[in-house]
Amino acid sequence: MIKMYDLLKELFPICRSLTGNGVRQTFEILKKHIPLEVQEFSSGTKCFDWVIPDEWNIKSAWIKDWNGNKIVDFSEHNLHILGYSIPYSGEITLEDLKKHIYTDPERPDAIPYRTSYYEKRWGFCMSHRQFETLKEGKYQVHIDSSLKPGSLTLAEAFIKGKTEKEIFFSCYVCHPSMADDSISGVVMTTKLYEYLKNRKDNYYSYRFIFVPETIGAIAYLSKYGEMLKKSTFCGMVLTCVGDPGDFNYKKTRQGTHSLDRIAENILKHSGFKHHMHDFFLPGSDERQYSSPGFNIPAGSLMRSFYGLPKYHSSQDNLDFVTEEGLNQTFDIYTKIIEAFEADFKYLNTNPFCEPFLSKYGLYSTLGAQMDGSKYIKKVLSILNFSDGQHSLVDIAEKTGFCISDLLDTVKILEEKGLLKK
Ligand code: ZN
Repeated sequence: MIKMYDLLKELFPICRSLTGNGVRQTFEILKKHIPLEVQEFSSGTKCFDWVIPDEWNIKSAWIKDWNGNKIVDFSEHNLHILGYSIPYSGEITLEDLKKHIYTDPERPDAIPYRTSYYEKRWGFCMSHRQFETLKEGKYQVHIDSSLKPGSLTLAEAFIKGKTEKEIFFSCYVCHPSMADDSISGVVMTTKLYEYLKNRKDNYYSYRFIFVPETIGAIAYLSKYGEMLKKSTFCGMVLTCVGDPGDFNYKKTRQGTHSLDRIAENILKHSGFKHHMHDFFLPGSDERQYSSPGFNIPAGSLMRSFYGLPKYHSSQDNLDFVTEEGLNQTFDIYTKIIEAFEADFKYLNTNPFCEPFLSKYGLYSTLGAQMDGSKYIKKVLSILNFSDGQHSLVDIAEKTGFCISDLLDTVKILEEKGLLKK
């Protein structure tokens, strides 16, 4: 059994980027839990309007003061280096050094996360508090990185169901040392693989996509987009799923897909504070899946992604994500999956008046009891609306039930021969 928080802790220290060994190392760890098929896309490969960039790797980086004290050291925190920094070594004045330092004055204690993927630069990130203490003098700068032709690495796994129709879960693997943004989605996707692998009789086929954000999704779609477009029923992009904040659901571009309605129905009855959002831009890889050429319905169930003050900084750390937060989100995801797996249009096999329920053991023979009325309401609601026109989520919405609460009753009615798909 995968313990999500433990896996998160294992992945957290790795220096990931769009490309490079950090992503490969991440996949090696994940492979202990999910049979990933890893693929490389060479630098320079054209993917629609984009080109796969050179591969970036880094061994060490630091700034020393005139006494030889390291004032910034990449080995202490991955976020200290500007992502994709080109190699550099030299002596530099404070004035020149400042041009290469990135801080966030609004969050003075946090090391911000900054990258320069498409413009060759070198730089460091530090807390604004530290930046303000820097004194005049000559500093030694050292960045042992490489940026040269190589490849971009992505991976996927697949579970075949009864139908070719697929539901995908997509997460991104390019963020270094941030817990909620990116890695929480990676561990959740891996956990969902485990859940679906152990689940019996999946109706849908399930795909699990691990890509560097944006360019990785574009590379993946350049190769598999047509296939995905044909086979996909809907997808979900997983990120920011581990903090204990309110739930936030971002609807598909279509806005009325059964994914949107199932997610809303389940959240509404979950007891958790939650917010529904129409599809908006930017966001994450749902932008690529739902670009007009593909128009694949992709939603995203997150926690406090919106307005998250700790976002893209060292404050998105292992304290911000909690085991409980991860487990609660996992529970909602599995409820959504279970609802999908039962969200069909059913037919009442006994449509002329109601069936005599006690004959099927579905009704207490002691009349006029007040309890059990919710159960009877469920039975009668499902039977009444199962005219081949209403899906299960339609019935849940019409009758005010949580779709999850209808599943057992549907199963019983199917077993008694009163209902069929
Ligand atoms: Zn991010």
